[in-house]
Amino acid sequence: MSKMIYLDNAATTQVYPEVVDTMLPYFTEHYGNPSAIYSFAGEAEKAVAKARETIASAIGAKSDEIYFTGGGSESDNWALKATAEAYASKGKHIITTAIEHHAILHTAQWLEKQGFEVTYVGVDENGTVKLDELEAAIRPDTILISVMAANNEIGTIQPLKEIGAIARKHGVLFHTDAVQAFAHIPINVDDMNIDMLSASGHKIGGPKGIGVMYIRKGVKILSFIHGGAQERHRRAGTHNVPGIVGMGKATEIAVRDMEKNNEYETTLRDHLIERVLTEIPYSRLNGEREKRLPNNANFCFRFIEGESMLILLDQAGICASSGSACTSGSLDPSHVLLAIGLPHEIAHGSLRLTLSEKTTLEDIDYTVDTLKAIIERLRGMSPLYEDFVRKNGGK
Ligand SMILES: *Cc1c(COP(=O)(O)O)cnc(C)c1O
Repeated sequence: MSKMIYLDNAATTQVYPEVVDTMLPYFTEHYGNPSAIYSFAGEAEKAVAKARETIASAIGAKSDEIYFTGGGSESDNWALKATAEAYASKGKHIITTAIEHHAILHTAQWLEKQGFEVTYVGVDENGTVKLDELEAAIRPDTILISVMAANNEIGTIQPLKEIGAIARKHGVLFHTDAVQAFAHIPINVDDMNIDMLSASGHKIGGPKGIGVMYIRKGVKILSFIHGGAQERHRRAGTHNVPGIVGMGKATEIAVRDMEKNNEYETTLRDHLIERVLTEIPYSRLNGEREKRLPNNANFCFRFIEGESMLILLDQAGICASSGSACTSGSLDPSHVLLAIGLPHEIAHGSLRLTLSEKTTLEDIDYTVDTLKAIIERLRGMSPLYEDFVRKNGGK
């Protein structure tokens, strides 16, 4: 394969070379356990503290409110399970949405089996949470509202400030899965009344297997990884020092370049959307047009089966996804696309293209040209499409 165009940055990102350089000495040179007493471990301890500070300041938190975890999924599990456990005496009702990542949805379903009640609030046709429905769902026994900051499939950014205000007004804790939003768009835990927040290293140019949970001071959840006294007794396990250092450095770079990158990616994304919608018939954009992640475009193409499209794109050197890395491999259409009201047969023909600051205009134009040819070819083989065209007299 001569050419490789990576347009799946919502699934994972390339680690910044600078991040790798910053991590390396913590494997070989400063390999001490940061919990040790001797001064040799001091370098590792200092590096962990520095990363914690960088990450805290990225969301307007204090560094002793940042806890390192094994990734976004662990943070999500922790937020839901440990809140449920700690607040069960107050109530057993949790509110989330129909479009969460599976790390939230499957955890919520597990909690339902343990006797908790979960309300899955709906979204409008753009994937924005219905605030009136959310507020109406709050009951005296509601202990937690968990709403993602930005959707990993369709890129819609949720009104976090409004949700936080509703949660605060009713005295309910507010958790947000910010894995797609952290260090990508501005977030402030105080402005938005966020009590807990999940983030992940590998979605921001950092390493895989490292994540963060922000827990506001006063929230009384405890660890669900039991063992040593690390992370103020709230998350046991020897610190993943290189991972932590890497996530800290990636945060520093991503926050530093956020404005510039977002401006650049928004221009490319809009060019991509414009070309696809005007040049490919029977295509639609999924997700909110304006309030969407700067790097996300998600389309549906009628009479196209998503999997075949992805395979042909791959043969042309283009890495794309049908929406969620967790759904591909199964033939179920995306729960997010169903939640915004798309019928099964349309949801099956979805394509997610997620850009990075390394994506070029040539990459985008090559992708659209290739996509056009692929869709023409697939539709040319589709009896359904042929039927449709005959009945509708062409366009
Ligand atoms: C990727 C992702 C996760 C999972 O994070 P990992 O670090 O891969 O476990 C959770 N939520 C959202 C929205 C994501 O995009």
